[in-house]
Amino acid sequence: MALKQLYSLPESLLTIEAQSVHQLVSEPTLFHLQGKQTEPLFISVLLHGNETTGFLALQKLLNKYTDQELPRSLSFFLGNTEAASQGVRRLSQQPDFNRIWPGTEMMPCNETEMASEIVSIMQDKKVFASIDVHNNTGINPHYACVNKLDNQFLQLATLFGRLVVYFIRPKGVQCGAFAEICPAVTLECGKPGRPYGVDHAFEYLDSCLHLSALNENPVNAHDIDIYHTVAQVKIRPGVKFGFEHTEVDFVLDKDIERMNFTEICAGTQFGLLANKAKMPLSVINENGEAVTDQFFSIVDNRLQIVKNTMPSMLTLNTTVIEQDCMCYLMEKIKQ
Ligand SMILES: [Zn+2]
Repeated sequence: MALKQLYSLPESLLTIEAQSVHQLVSEPTLFHLQGKQTEPLFISVLLHGNETTGFLALQKLLNKYTDQELPRSLSFFLGNTEAASQGVRRLSQQPDFNRIWPGTEMMPCNETEMASEIVSIMQDKKVFASIDVHNNTGINPHYACVNKLDNQFLQLATLFGRLVVYFIRPKGVQCGAFAEICPAVTLECGKPGRPYGVDHAFEYLDSCLHLSALNENPVNAHDIDIYHTVAQVKIRPGVKFGFEHTEVDFVLDKDIERMNFTEICAGTQFGLLANKAKMPLSVINENGEAVTDQFFSIVDNRLQIVKNTMPSMLTLNTTVIEQDCMCYLMEKIKQ
C-alpha cells in the first residue's frame, strides 16, 4: 500500500466539515506545502476519527495562509478520515491510528507500514517539530504530552500551557515515534466540538509555524506543572461494566470524571462490585508489568485506590473505555 501524498490543497478542504473530509480525501494522506523556512513543521490530525478539534484548527491555519506565504513549510497528515465520516475513534476492523507508529507492539500491517513510511519521509525532509492533535472524551483540562524530558520538548509543550504529561506507554503513539527524530508533542484539547479548543490549538499551531528555532534552555520551574504517567488502567476483557446498577459485575461511579487531574487520596472509591466479583481491573506500569495490587483493592464490595495518585482520561464513554482504557494514573515530577 503506497502512502498517498499531495503537494497542493483541494480547495474545498478549506471549508469542508470533518465528517465529510472522507469524500474529498478517501484514504490517509500526507500533504506538503512550501513555506519560507524549509524544514517543515509536521501536524497530524484525525488519528482518532471523532477528535475533530485538530482538523478544525488546521483548517483555520490553512485559511489564514491562502493568500500569504507560510512562515515555514508545513507537512500535515489527515489520518482516519473514514472513521471521521462515522464520527467514531476507529472502525471496529481498523487498528487504532495512534498505536501504529514505529515502536509499536502491534503485529506489522498496512497501517504500521504507512506510519513508518511517514516518519521516514519526514526525517528526510529534516522535520522541525511534530504536533499531534487530540481530544479527550472526559472532563480534562488542556495539556500537552511528551515522551522525552528534554528542554526543547518541554519548551514546545509549555507554549500550549503549563500542564504537561510525560509518558512512555502506550507504545506506538505518533509523538513517541517522532520523538526519535525531532521535538514532538501531543496536544489534548478537551472535548471535541468546543470553539475554545479549536482557537487554542490554532493559535498554538500558528505560533509554532513562526518559531525560527526552539529554545534549548530549561523551562522556568514556575511555568510548568509536569506529571509522569506511571500506570495505565484497563477493565479486564469479559468483565461486564457500566454506570447503572443493572446486570453488570462492576458499576463505575458516575462522577469519576471529576477526579481527572485532581490529587486523590488512598481509599477513594471508583465503583462497586457485584457479590463475589473478582478484581475487574488490570493495571500495567510503564515497563508493561502488571501492578494492579499496588494501585487497587477491593474492600467489602467497593473498588478503592490504595495510594495517593492523580488520574487522567477518566470518561463516561463506555466504548472509549473498551477500545482504549479506563484511565491513566500519574505522579507529579518535582522540577
Ligand atoms: Zn485521541
